[in-house]
Amino acid sequence: MLAMAAGVGGLLAPIAPAVAQGYDMQARTLLGSAKFKQAKARLDADYDRIIADIVTLTEVEAPPFKEATRGALFGRMLAAEGLADITTDAEGNVYGTLKGSGTGSGATRPVFVVTAHLDTVFPAGTNVKVKRAGNKLMAPGIGDDTSSLPVLLAFIRAIKAAGFTPATDIVFMGNVGEEGPGDLRGVRYLFGKGPLKDRIKYFISFEPGRGDRITNAGAGSKRYKVTFTGPGGHSMGNFGIVNPSYALADAMVRFGRMTVPATPKTVYNVGIVEGGTSVNSIPFAMSMMVDMRSGGKAELDAVEKQFLAILPAAVDAENAARSTASGKIGYTVTPIGDRPVGAVAMDADIMRMAVALRKAAGVTPTFGTGSSDSNIPWSMGREAITLGSGFETQGAHSLDEYLVSDRPRDVENMVLGLATVLLIAGAK
Ligand SMILES: [Zn+2]
Repeated sequence: MLAMAAGVGGLLAPIAPAVAQGYDMQARTLLGSAKFKQAKARLDADYDRIIADIVTLTEVEAPPFKEATRGALFGRMLAAEGLADITTDAEGNVYGTLKGSGTGSGATRPVFVVTAHLDTVFPAGTNVKVKRAGNKLMAPGIGDDTSSLPVLLAFIRAIKAAGFTPATDIVFMGNVGEEGPGDLRGVRYLFGKGPLKDRIKYFISFEPGRGDRITNAGAGSKRYKVTFTGPGGHSMGNFGIVNPSYALADAMVRFGRMTVPATPKTVYNVGIVEGGTSVNSIPFAMSMMVDMRSGGKAELDAVEKQFLAILPAAVDAENAARSTASGKIGYTVTPIGDRPVGAVAMDADIMRMAVALRKAAGVTPTFGTGSSDSNIPWSMGREAITLGSGFETQGAHSLDEYLVSDRPRDVENMVLGLATVLLIAGAK
């Protein structure tokens, strides 16, 4: 999922004119080349196949931590495009390589990772059969991010059909665990432990959306499950003993009163509350799941610190309010999500190229903050961006998710993604 907030581009450093001109020239040359026209024609000719592949992949469910079946299918699709070294890594990311002309071998050979995520937010057993109504295709997960996977396959076919050879090896990848509970586990592994971790020169993650969009900053998030525990008992017989419900409620009220900065946008939420055994029992345990997010690292750390300080205060207040003769209120706090804050500089090569390409194509780039796979490389100072893969989709993360097929517009937007990949890969 990529939740966008607008407009951080203007705040960052201007592009160095000489270098930008170099990329401007390269972008114009690429877009004006006969090979590029062939690649474009191939993308257009492939449109129905892209749609058919979206339907095929959507109908293979891919819940968090259960992406293996869809991953295996996508691996077969990558192999069918003739990629080398088809691999499923230890975390479940599936990828293959389009070999470049560049030099270097083993650990010193750079790669450019072009990826979309395999997982959806929907649990196993969700009806993922695609329904069509006119040019509308409806199914949970069809947009985010299933619609991007076949676009990557079409990029490979277009690159090959036009006879382009990249300078840098391009690794096309379906990654796992991008959505909430997965906590970016696929890309975290890719950059943290995986066999490619030291070789990745550039990284693009594709998410649904149009081609003008460049996500260049990532909001961070911290998520916790908190459980308050107590002795529990009968609502009548044990009345007067401490009750975890009140500790939980007190913590929630204190949390809800926290003030947070508007800029960078900083937010918090209690999303799930659960616990108890019956209406006439004082519960043994009550839990809540909370989410805190910010575009600033200091602000996120500050809101987390306040939240963590509330918990013992709420416990102490309940232990002071009622009898602890049969036991005290305690609590456990378990991290369930940690997405780092990060951004790529406007003068980073990958940004200069993505911007130059859009300018050369007569498209005004839009910049924004999101929460996506690029958060991981950004937090490490690596060159990464998240781009729209082409389709306009609606209702992400809802059962009513749909994609509107609009061939000329969709192809035009995919072309921007393909051209960006070619420019960054130094394809000739
Ligand atoms: Zn997504």
